[in-house]
Amino acid sequence: MKLITHAAWGARYGKGPTNITPSGGVAVHYVGVGRLATIPHSKCAARVRSIESQHVGGNGWAAIAYNFLVCHHGYVFEGRGLGHRSAAQGTNSGNQYWYAVCALVGDGDTIIPPALLAAVRDAIDYMRARGAGRGIKGHRDFHSTSCPGGPLYVWVRKGAPRPSKQEDDMPFTEAQLRKIVREEAEKVMTADAVPAPGSNPADGFDPDGNPGFDPAKNPTWGRDSVRKQTIQGLIVVDKKVDQLAADVRAELAEVKALLAAKED
Ligand SMILES: [Zn+2]
Ligand SMILES: [Zn+2]
Repeated sequence: MKLITHAAWGARYGKGPTNITPSGGVAVHYVGVGRLATIPHSKCAARVRSIESQHVGGNGWAAIAYNFLVCHHGYVFEGRGLGHRSAAQGTNSGNQYWYAVCALVGDGDTIIPPALLAAVRDAIDYMRARGAGRGIKGHRDFHSTSCPGGPLYVWVRKGAPRPSKQEDDMPFTEAQLRKIVREEAEKVMTADAVPAPGSNPADGFDPDGNPGFDPAKNPTWGRDSVRKQTIQGLIVVDKKVDQLAADVRAELAEVKALLAAKED
């Protein structure tokens, strides 16, 4: 297990009360906001410190709520650690009898990498070998919450199996990969959306007043608006080419008529 101790990630507070009796086992949690899959490992310790600040400074708890936290890169951060009562389950008996491990996964993350699942499993095995009961639950098994999110909960219900080497090598089918890439691209486009060219009449982007550039109907420069505007631009060009061809044909006919008149 790649353990990062409480001191090593720069914890600013202690580890909380020690009166846990973890006969239940381990409850799995997630962070639940944002997208954490893309942050580099160099930022994971800061993410853990911000959770600690929120739990202690914001919520007024004795320490970060979880006994351990796990990042996408397969590292296990020691929170309250072994022998300390957790504060994450939302019920007194949950905190008394169950350890808590939190995956650094947000509600916007569509990919749960095998390295993260393996590290959550590492943490569970580590706690089991040191007194935790055999149970594995999701936070939502204790009270009503989305935690630990759909994909992680499905995995928890299967008994949190360690991902096989084969799955490491080939975690997704072609179709699944395409779907993920599409969804991720859409999120980036939405997140990075900027006003479309032509939204501002003063920029002179659309002197002909073409319909594709109506800012009320098409205010952002996302994937769909790029496609729509490109197609509408092509239709305009196509019409102009048709008109030009018709003009040339008409002129040619006139010239032919003139020539024919001269020969007469
Ligand atoms: Zn939770
Ligand atoms: Zn990390």
